[in-house]
Amino acid sequence: MTEAGEGPRRVQEAAFLLAPMTEILPGVHLIDGVNPSPDFTTNILLLKDAKGSSWTLLDTGLPRGKSPVDTAKAIEQYGEKHGIPLSSVKHILITHLHADHTGNLKALVERTKAKTYTHWIEACYIAQDPPYKGPGMPPPDRVDITEKLRDGDKLDHVFEGIVALATPGHTPGHTTYYCPSRKILFAGDSVFGNNGGMVVSAKEYTFSQSLAVISLRRLATLDVESVIMYHGSPILKGGGARLKAAAKEGYGADPEN
Ligand SMILES: [Zn+2]
Repeated sequence: MTEAGEGPRRVQEAAFLLAPMTEILPGVHLIDGVNPSPDFTTNILLLKDAKGSSWTLLDTGLPRGKSPVDTAKAIEQYGEKHGIPLSSVKHILITHLHADHTGNLKALVERTKAKTYTHWIEACYIAQDPPYKGPGMPPPDRVDITEKLRDGDKLDHVFEGIVALATPGHTPGHTTYYCPSRKILFAGDSVFGNNGGMVVSAKEYTFSQSLAVISLRRLATLDVESVIMYHGSPILKGGGARLKAAAKEGYGADPEN
């Protein structure tokens, strides 16, 4: 293989590495450079709010010291590269209390002054009142969530209109965010990516797997095209069918806890 033959390909690869295409759907940015390792994906999203010029951040990554990456810095750098300054982030949606979702919440609230959103039960655990004693990593810092959600609350000002759905199981107040107009489900840890499909969360880090299956059955009734899980590759087309398959599978090979 000649130098001349390799040159253009190398340039192309370098360009791809420098500026990967991470707007996975219009107005939906999957932030790169935040995964602690290739087999541990943390799909932190920036969503463009249709009304006004603000942005919404969905979950905040692992805390400093628990990841080789400074996630808050990586989020900021991603924003700078794509014209999304942290000052434009006005809303932070949180799916649940675990530290890989709340690890930078305190720091990012201090930086952005954004409103914060999650289910009212989860908000208590994120405030560490009471401390969470269930499976999975508890939140590293106490944060007072400003917008305590109930099932079915409509957030018309967020992205292109979001409905908050209480989907307990993985944690007691796990919240899934659904955009009906775009048929996108921001699933958090209600399901996990698995070989191009999805499965209910494994029992070792799940508060109640039976509740998680009940919540998954509900999600499977929604009109959904795209499912963006926090862990695993997003499913941009045909996500509804995958959700139905996962709900039918239920616990799969992993017996109920
Ligand atoms: Zn979790």
